[in-house]
Amino acid sequence: MSVERTTIPVLEVMGLRKSFGGGGDRPALDGVDLRVEDSEVVAVLGPSGSGKSTLVRCIDQLESIDGGAMYLDGELLGYEVHGSHIRPLRDVDVQRQRRRMGMVFQQFNLFPHWTVLRNITEAPITVHGVPPAEAKQRAMDLLERVGLADKANAHPRQLSGGQQQRVAIARAVAANPRVLLFDEPTSSLDPELVDEVLQVIKDLAVSGMTMVVVTHEMAFARSVADRCVFMAEGKVIEDRPAQEFFESPRSTRLQTFLTRTA
Ligand code: ADP
Ligand code: MG
Repeated sequence: MSVERTTIPVLEVMGLRKSFGGGGDRPALDGVDLRVEDSEVVAVLGPSGSGKSTLVRCIDQLESIDGGAMYLDGELLGYEVHGSHIRPLRDVDVQRQRRRMGMVFQQFNLFPHWTVLRNITEAPITVHGVPPAEAKQRAMDLLERVGLADKANAHPRQLSGGQQQRVAIARAVAANPRVLLFDEPTSSLDPELVDEVLQVIKDLAVSGMTMVVVTHEMAFARSVADRCVFMAEGKVIEDRPAQEFFESPRSTRLQTFLTRTA
């Protein structure tokens, strides 16, 4: 399936560099390029320590960057441009940009003392100014979609890990993000709970949500992602349509990685 290249991508990362200091260490991100089109699902794969989490955390502006640039719908992230001057955005403007992205973490990060419903409605009401009744209706629709309508008044501790992660996904979607970022959303789940979460992500893909998914789930990446990106040592080694990625990996590093994880 070819992707129309004449439009502005939803997300564009160009030459992204990030170091965590620690003198002489190689950077966590060493010039990363990534382009995500509307409704595209991009899986990011690679060994531990290759920079996958740092990449999505930089995109979500949870980390400062040391070089390169990122654009959301063509808008420069983290900086403002005045003629030839570029300066970092104020926090309030960073928050405005971050609201257009949703992030789902390995460790759900739900607020334990709030109900499921409040976990989903809080940001829409207090941050986005959605009227409470409307936020609640939308949250209930989303809970229906992730199969948890009957858990609206439960607290996170009363739910399984898979259920908590489905709530976290509903929460991320409730804010109507332009792009959803996932950082190993199933890695902390017991094996029997992985599929229910992957199914929810798959449904979102079918609905046209634009997504970047860091994952170790090869079968999922192969069947759901449009493109797969392989990272090693802070660099993108391969970025290919999913089928080619798995059937004819070019680099020996990816070949080895796929053999080891098969
Ligand atoms: P991955 O998610 O692919 O496992 P990470 O993005 O977590 O990789 O890490 C990439 C590199 O950056 C690793 O060398 C890791 O040790 C380093 N790193 C990540 N986060 C931090 C941090 N907060 N402080 C120092 N080093 C970090
Ligand atoms: Mg990681």
